[in-house]
Amino acid sequence: MRTRRLSARWVLPVGGPPVERGALLIGADGRIVAVGPEPDVPRPTNAPAEDFGEALLLPGLINTHTHLELTGLADGPPEPDFAGWIRRLRAAKAARAPDAFLVAACRGLTDCWAAGVTTVADTGDSGAVIQALAEAGGSGIAYQEVFGPHPDQRDESLAGLERQVERLGRYVGGRVRIGVSPHAPYTVSGPLYAATAEFARRLGLPVAVHVAESAAESALLARGEGEFADAWRARGIPAPAPLGRTPVAWLEEHGVLSGRTLCIHAVRVAGPDIGRLVRAGAAVAHCPLSNRAHGHGVAPLAGLLAASLRVGLGTDSAVSVGALDLLAEARAAGVLAGLSAARALSLCTLEGAGALGLEGEVGSLAPGKWGDCVVIRPPRGLVAAPPEELVLASGPRDVLVTFVGGRDVYRSSRPL
Ligand SMILES: [Zn+2]
Repeated sequence: MRTRRLSARWVLPVGGPPVERGALLIGADGRIVAVGPEPDVPRPTNAPAEDFGEALLLPGLINTHTHLELTGLADGPPEPDFAGWIRRLRAAKAARAPDAFLVAACRGLTDCWAAGVTTVADTGDSGAVIQALAEAGGSGIAYQEVFGPHPDQRDESLAGLERQVERLGRYVGGRVRIGVSPHAPYTVSGPLYAATAEFARRLGLPVAVHVAESAAESALLARGEGEFADAWRARGIPAPAPLGRTPVAWLEEHGVLSGRTLCIHAVRVAGPDIGRLVRAGAAVAHCPLSNRAHGHGVAPLAGLLAASLRVGLGTDSAVSVGALDLLAEARAAGVLAGLSAARALSLCTLEGAGALGLEGEVGSLAPGKWGDCVVIRPPRGLVAAPPEELVLASGPRDVLVTFVGGRDVYRSSRPL
């Protein structure tokens, strides 16, 4: 790749204030060389330069929770019965041909790029997403899921996970990482949580877990009651022991919480649970539109941020929210916690990178970081607004070009 220079009316580094009439220089190695006001950014004679006129140039967005292998699996809003929805989703996955997961993952990844997202943290069990990331030159963490609600399944489930991590290791490298995801408290036994956490520690792998999402999950762990508990009883699976734990306390008790753990959803977390997350140094993937679509309630985002937890934004799957739109998540998060447009933008860029432990590599436009950026057309009629507000008022249809490591991976067919 050649060194390239990009410029636009507004450059939003995110790590610093917006620059009017700014430019960005990306080196041949795909990393940022310089960013700042037009006159301060070098113009190497052999570097192609591209000016995007009135557009906004900002870091590529970081989606901290996707299930790209589910792309195209279902249409329409999810039904209100969450436990039933999970069962039907798993049946739909089981009916999908193995090859179809890779097709879905590739489409999901290109959809992300078209919506301005350049790094994903994805959970799934097919292994298709890490392959898609590696083969397409993407950036992200693929967390390999493991399931097993009966304590007797522990050894078999763990062995399966170990085999998958070994098999998928061929795709790890460069900008593609692998992690593990003991799926959720209603699909994973306490012993399997502990064993998976130990495996992750041994290999130094990051961990992602869906936690404190639904009322049914909390009822299962607190009292052995509710839809998930009923489903477990019907399958001969013993209730969690001991009862009386919150979902976050349950994870803590099984050694799952650490500075490498990403807690997805974290809706039902009260003060003591926030304290547990803080003590462990865990991060949160906040998914406001998925939480709303499933009727799970409202996560205490302001409280999580006030506690200085690392928080990023995630869309969850297309099966939950339809087309993935991380800027819509940022708007929802901003309303929820009363955030400025600049902070909401930070959550889906630099802070999202921080939640994944990737803040040294991506999330802002700074020398040394990857040349991941997105060019957005300002929404009509709003051009006088502050640039962060212009970004937040836009959506996937306004994305003009997306770059990953200085390579344009998406260009809109619409005129500039
Ligand atoms: Zn999810």
